[in-house]
Amino acid sequence: MTTDFEATRRAFDLPEGIVYLDGNSLGPLPRGVAERLGRAVTDEWGRMLITGWNKADWINLPRRVGGRIGKLVGAEPGSIVVGDTLSIKVYQALASALEMNPGRRVILSDTGNFPSDLYIAEGLARTVGRDVRLKLVAPEDLAEALDETVAVLLVTEVDYRTGRRHDMQAMIAKAQSLGILTVWDLAHSAGAFPVHLAACNADFAVGCTYKYLNSGPGGPAFIYVAPRHQDRAVPALSGWMGHEAPFAFDLDYRPAHGVERMRVGTPPILHLTALDAALDVWDSVDLDDLRARSLDLGDLFVERVETECPELVLATPRAPGQRGSQISFRHPEGYAIMQALIAEGVIGDFRAPDILRFGFTPLYTGLEDVRRAADVLCKVMAERLWDRPEFRKPQGRIVT
Ligand SMILES: *Cc1c(COP(=O)(O)O)cnc(C)c1O
Repeated sequence: MTTDFEATRRAFDLPEGIVYLDGNSLGPLPRGVAERLGRAVTDEWGRMLITGWNKADWINLPRRVGGRIGKLVGAEPGSIVVGDTLSIKVYQALASALEMNPGRRVILSDTGNFPSDLYIAEGLARTVGRDVRLKLVAPEDLAEALDETVAVLLVTEVDYRTGRRHDMQAMIAKAQSLGILTVWDLAHSAGAFPVHLAACNADFAVGCTYKYLNSGPGGPAFIYVAPRHQDRAVPALSGWMGHEAPFAFDLDYRPAHGVERMRVGTPPILHLTALDAALDVWDSVDLDDLRARSLDLGDLFVERVETECPELVLATPRAPGQRGSQISFRHPEGYAIMQALIAEGVIGDFRAPDILRFGFTPLYTGLEDVRRAADVLCKVMAERLWDRPEFRKPQGRIVT
């Protein structure tokens, strides 16, 4: 192992005394971000004003940062651009893919997908007309449901509740043999383990940056378009920043060459700067090391919890190849258990109806943290610390 995980841990500014197992939902603050952001605000925005678009090269930040993300997800250079939210990027990828397969009417996805992806697909199906519809099957039936009626397969690689992972390579091979285009949501993949978009021959992919890539709340999303599709994919959100010549101010739209056509409007420069700084830590990380350590952390947690508090039921597949970088357990009192756990300084989260989720992020989580988290969880169970009124009432926590 060549990655120094002690050093990567020091690159994060985590509060004292807690174990943070929710980086799969919101990554913590990398130390370099505040300083970089401060400079971008005072030196760039403050001093350069409008000239920052050229002098600080803000205009190319979406592509530059996209190139850095590309290295983490096995994308060809120049095939990723950053901006907007993930929901919008899902819409764009899906709309373009659908238009590239005009003879077919089905968008296929699974019931383990994140609701926003499904809502976006529903909304798109309604507005494109031509009888397009969203078909949903159970995650384990997805590969079987691929057939020649399907235009686009929309799949989130890792299930946000259970942590179950689809086999990207096999799924793409089967889809492509049937003339189906694939859109991969990498929300729980990018920065969680090595992804090989180019090697798997992916068509489109999207993902967010505020989870495993630590860009901060509301950090911009990314979109990948395979080079072979880039000049064929028609942007559904044909904004001026995706125009071939935005500053010509033409009255008619002509898409830019390459993936830049997936830009929409003015990029969020400050947040892109935060993301750019947050990505620095990855320069010293070997993704195979990251994966090995992530599996070790998860295995240790499963072993401890199953031994010491067997009333929690593992919801994540045991096989390493079938899971992402999170471990989930089920319990009917999951909500109250998670509140009690958080009160004890171990932060995971809860997903209805009964899932306790724990994200394992080797950049700043070690074996000691995992032991402590398991011990505290089992104490919460053994002493029924969750069985208190203050942990029962839904508090309207906002969790993504
Ligand atoms: C986190 C997540 C989202 C969130 O989308 P936003 O537009 O960033 O709010 C969407 N899809 C999946 C699969 C996610 O995990």
